[in-house]
Amino acid sequence: MSVWDSLVGQKPVIDMLSELAKGDPRHLAQSWLFCGPPGSGRSNMALAFAAALECPRHGCGECDVCRAVMSRNHPDVTVLATDKVTIPIEEVREIVEKSEEIPTVAPWHIILIEDVDRMLERTTNVLLKEIEEPAEHTMWLLCAPSAQDVLPTIRSRTRLVNLAVPQTAEVARFLVERCGTEEKLAQRCARLSEGHIGISRLYAVDDQALADRDELVVGVLGLRRVSQAVLLADTLMSNAKSQASASVNREVERDKAEFLRVNGLKPKDVVPAAIRGAWNAIGKKDDVKRRTTRLTRDVLDRSLNSIASVYRDVAVVQAGAVDSVGLVNLENRRAIYDLATRIDRNGAVKRLESIELARRRLNGNGNAQLDFEALFCSLIVFD
Ligand SMILES: [Zn+2]
Repeated sequence: MSVWDSLVGQKPVIDMLSELAKGDPRHLAQSWLFCGPPGSGRSNMALAFAAALECPRHGCGECDVCRAVMSRNHPDVTVLATDKVTIPIEEVREIVEKSEEIPTVAPWHIILIEDVDRMLERTTNVLLKEIEEPAEHTMWLLCAPSAQDVLPTIRSRTRLVNLAVPQTAEVARFLVERCGTEEKLAQRCARLSEGHIGISRLYAVDDQALADRDELVVGVLGLRRVSQAVLLADTLMSNAKSQASASVNREVERDKAEFLRVNGLKPKDVVPAAIRGAWNAIGKKDDVKRRTTRLTRDVLDRSLNSIASVYRDVAVVQAGAVDSVGLVNLENRRAIYDLATRIDRNGAVKRLESIELARRRLNGNGNAQLDFEALFCSLIVFD
């Protein structure tokens, strides 16, 4: 066991970081930029590095220090995560101030910022001086999808760590060994997730998510009329909402069970008055609503990846590259080959561009249903 175990397909990076964590701390860079596409595990990598730096055994994965860091509960490891579009400047100011403090129990005061790309330039400026000359015992671990997503001023002041997109075989092995997924299903989920660990795991455990994906891909491949496009947008929206709502309900049930366990109660016990406020707060209506809305966005964003994978496959067929790079949507092989003859290469490229446009509109908090109607209309191949 070690803190690096949960990371998939990143051996070269792990070898480098674990060596550095064991080495002389005086030679360590103090500002880092961890880059990797969504699902590659960039913030988990940064967190594992933090544990390796704080743990007396350099990331054993078993001691209290490792456990506290990995569960984001270590007093000297501060994680700044956001589900907002941009990180508020006040939060960064606060964290910069905190960064001057010396660590309380561990060798380093570590500050991990997920999604440092979600910062406006003026917010970034608050950070610059600190990451250029960090306090003596402070370590900055910044994360972003790619170095291009980060302002050059940040890039030039940090040491870059690039994560790889995990290979399908590695993701499949992870599912079999760590999640107990059956081999054939693991292969399929790994292929469909295109190297995104979290999504592969979701497909492996959530039949509905996988079935919804199938339905979407079949729908996209069959788009020949406007009425179908409108209907498909409708189906996608309602599937996304019910998937999100089911998943939030599962989270609430888990939180309730955990609350009871921590307080030594059984499911049928009456919750004592002193903790009833906290109990009632779990699964509160507006909280559930907020989480469901956010998760629906995630499902829709993932749908865009699935849709893009169809045209990626079409382009692969058109380029005669199936033998070398393979298809994502193997189950829809025949329809993909058929589509590859009905549109030309330019047609595939234009559709991929429409998908990126839809992604930008969706991120700009547009009307999702209308965005998808427009997208599906632009994907139609008329007979
Ligand atoms: Zn440890």
